[in-house]
Amino acid sequence: MLTYLDKMITHPASILRSLYPSLKWKVKTDQKQLFLTFDDGPVIGVTDKLLDKLKEYNAKATFFCVGKNIEKNPELFDRILEEGHTIGNHTYKHTNGWKSTNMSYLKDVQDFQNLYQTRYFRPPYGKMKPAQIAALKGRYKIMMWSALSMDYHPSVSAEKCYENANSKLKAGDILLFHDSEKAAAKMMYAVERILKERSEEGFQFASLPQ
Ligand SMILES: [Zn+2]
Repeated sequence: MLTYLDKMITHPASILRSLYPSLKWKVKTDQKQLFLTFDDGPVIGVTDKLLDKLKEYNAKATFFCVGKNIEKNPELFDRILEEGHTIGNHTYKHTNGWKSTNMSYLKDVQDFQNLYQTRYFRPPYGKMKPAQIAALKGRYKIMMWSALSMDYHPSVSAEKCYENANSKLKAGDILLFHDSEKAAAKMMYAVERILKERSEEGFQFASLPQ
């Protein structure tokens, strides 16, 4: 079952955005660009197939990697970089900000930076305490999303993932998917359709500026 909160975060209402003005929910652009983002990789058997697909459409994306997955799959991580995509920090251990002390949260963010330096950050589960936001917002651009596929959710079908991510898309929108094993089949279905259909409409898929 989807909760009210689930529905609200699929397309964050202006009220949610206005509560957190220091978080980024869209990209300002005067071009017909969309911003694909992928959380939780790199994962062998998922991220590599996704990279092939992105290449087919000359699409760039932003990967909010988990530090321990970078350590597990360093060659795949290098491939993401070599193919011109942007990397964001998604913490080293995928820590839930609401369930951790500020000190251990900030350490987990820094543990990622010790592997790779980036100015983009996205909180795992989208959850941060106000003090964590305050501590990170000066150093990082905290990137949220404007369209959430919910590819990770067991009761959301592939078709629904596509609809969640694809409906009402406008230039500058940030689409959120997961290059994880759990989400892979649904994510690939939705991403492939969006790449094809939106490319035909003249959209370009861009990564966040490095
Ligand atoms: Zn995540």
